[in-house]
Formats: sequence, C-alpha cells, structure tokens
Amino acid sequence: MGIFDEMAKYGHEQIHFLQHKGTGLKGIVAIHDTTMGPALGGCRMRPYESEEDALFDVLRLSRGMTYKCGVVDVDNGGGKAVLIGDPNLDKSPELFRVFGRYVESLGGRFYTGTDMGTTPQDFVHSQRESSSFVGLPVEYGGSGNTALPTALGVFEAIKATAQWLWGNTELSGRRFAVQGVGKVGSLVVQHLVEAGGTVYVTDVYPPYLEAVAEATPKEQLLGVVRPEEIYGLDVDVFVPCALGAILNDDTIAELRCAAVVGSANNQLLDMERHGAMLAERGILYAPDYLANAGGLIQVADELKGYVPERVLAKTKGIFEMLLQVYKLSSEQEIPTWLAADRLVEQRIEKVRDLKSVRV
Ligand code: NAD
Repeated sequence: MGIFDEMAKYGHEQIHFLQHKGTGLKGIVAIHDTTMGPALGGCRMRPYESEEDALFDVLRLSRGMTYKCGVVDVDNGGGKAVLIGDPNLDKSPELFRVFGRYVESLGGRFYTGTDMGTTPQDFVHSQRESSSFVGLPVEYGGSGNTALPTALGVFEAIKATAQWLWGNTELSGRRFAVQGVGKVGSLVVQHLVEAGGTVYVTDVYPPYLEAVAEATPKEQLLGVVRPEEIYGLDVDVFVPCALGAILNDDTIAELRCAAVVGSANNQLLDMERHGAMLAERGILYAPDYLANAGGLIQVADELKGYVPERVLAKTKGIFEMLLQVYKLSSEQEIPTWLAADRLVEQRIEKVRDLKSVRV
C-alpha cells in the first residue's frame, strides 16, 4: 500500500520526512488531526528494522494521540515523531538541535517531548532551536514528573470503575494486582493503600519490589508474586502498569478479576478481538488512553502556562469521563474501547463545527 493510501485510511493530514547528513538524523513527523488544536505527541527513538516499520509506528501512534487528547478535552490534536537510530549509540547534542530546527520549521503545528528512547535532557538541546518542546526538565521550564498525574488519573479511573460496578467509590478491603511498580505503578500502589485497599505486586526488577514492600503496611500487602503469577490472582481489579499487549489470548483466559484499569499503553494486543474477549468474560476494561491521560494533561497544560491546580482538576475529571464511557458502552452494547473512540469522534465533530466561525 502506498503512503497516501495509508494516510487516507487513518485520516492523517501531513507527514514530514527528516534527514540530516552531518548528524545522521533520520526521522518522521506525522500530524494526524489538528481540528482540536496543534498536534501534540512524544518523540520516540528506536533502531527500527525498516523504514516501513518506522512509518507504521508513527502513523499508529500519532492517530492514538488524537484520541488521547480528545478524550480528556485538551486543545490539541494528535502527532508523533520517530527518530530512526539506537538511543544508546546514535544520540548527540547536535542531532537533537537539528531535530529542534525541523520542529521549529513546522511553525507551531507540532509540539513534542519525551517518549520511549528519549529523555527530557535530550530536548534541552532541541529547545535551543525551538519553543515547541514540552516536558523539559523543571530548570528549563518543564512541569516535572508526569508519573504523578498519570498515577492519580489511574486511581481516579479505579474509583470510577468501583462506582460503576459496586455503586460506590469505597476501596477499603478491595483487592488489587499491580503489574509493574516503576514510576507510575509504585505511586498507584500508594494511592490504593492510602484508600484502604490491599495489593499484590510484581515486577521484573527486584529493587523496586523491595521498596514497595517496605513502604506498604504488612496487613495491606497480599503478596509479592512472580511476574507470570499476576494474571491469575483472585482480585477485584488487575492494574497493568508495565508493558503493552498484556491482554491477549493467554492472559485473558487466566484473569479472575472484575475489571482491568492501569497505566500501560496499548494493553489490548488486538483491540477488537481482545476487547470482545474481555467483555465476553464479563471483565470491565477501562480504555488505557483515558486511564493514563494524566501525564498528557500535564504536558498539554504547559502550552497554556502550566497551572498545577488546573492539571489536578482536569486529571480528576478522568473519573466522570470514564463513567460516561461505561454508560455509552452499556447503552449501545459496544466494547468500552469503542465507546471511548465514539465519544472522542463526537467531540471532534463539535469542535470542527464551532471552528467554522472565522476569527
Ligand atoms: P517504568 O519503566 O518506570 O516502570 C515500568 C515497570 O515495569 C518497571 O519497574 C519494570 O521493571 C516493570 N516491568 C517490565 N516488564 C515487566 C513484566 N513483564 N512484569 C512485571 N513488571 C515488568 O515506566 P512508567 O513510567 O512507570 O510507565 C509504566 C507504563 O505506563 C508504561 O507502559 C508507560 O508507557 C505507561 N505510561 C506512563 C506514563 C508516565 O507518565 N510515566 C504516562 C502514560 C502511560
């Protein structure tokens, strides 16, 4: 399939191919939809096996950003950048400065920051050439650690799920299985424990497990389990905060929870198939791009002048938005991921209409 066919299939507006001989920079910026505002999305660096892989990734991720921005109603559309290279070998200050110049040349149509393979420090070089970077270190005007609002958003999503399933937000005595206790997962555990919940935890990195086990009151720690044991536990909510694609044929069959609510991106290996499998098993799924939108809310707020109270209020809004998603899914008898997509599409149409007024 040709590039224009791919763009038409997913509704992309623009693709930019970047190459700079001196620094070895090779990259792609994809702008999916700017109805809601300038495109926003991270910059990923990976040693892609082929140019097609890089293109496929940037098209898929930029479209995902339109939905993520839309679901929490920030004034941005979806975009993404990918740099083709090994983050451990191919980085240089000059490469990121050149990248900054390319981003600046887009004239404010695209804002970007960190993603897999890039760090806030990389973009300290880029911001010398452009004002279109978010999520910079605090001393460069960034808003700081996004794991904080992301974890809060997951906690709000868990409370909304409790409200929907059990009629109240009381988490005391509820049982949770948290997969991955890194930056976000460890904070989610803290929220759950403070709310009186009890937790199983797992991780592949023992020091993180030890830290969480130490910080959690003994009576609220149900167990520290091996990574492969986390799926089959008898809990109320499975909370994936590690990897994507963890909801698949094998794991869904094992689950013994009432709901899945976590921060990991792209949790469903195959959206349609595995979304339907969860529904058939009577397991409620909180769409990941809504549950984990706290970090996006924070970096998008930088473009409005970063007000922490506003970020907090908007992140708490994930609670109501998720209830709307569950309601639509139940009324229309459609999977929750599709209900979320539809709510976003309706919102984009409304914004398209109001922007028909010339200013
Ligand atoms: P992190 O790297 O700090 O934590 C991930 C943890 O998962 C690590 O401790 C790692 O050891 C563990 N892990 C890896 N493989 C595992 C496995 N097989 N079983 C159990 N544990 C495993 O990352 P993070 O920032 O905490 O993000 C967690 C997830 O949330 C990622 O999917 C990320 O894309 C997503 N997310 C993060 C943010 C954010 O603001 N940090 C925002 C949105 C989404």
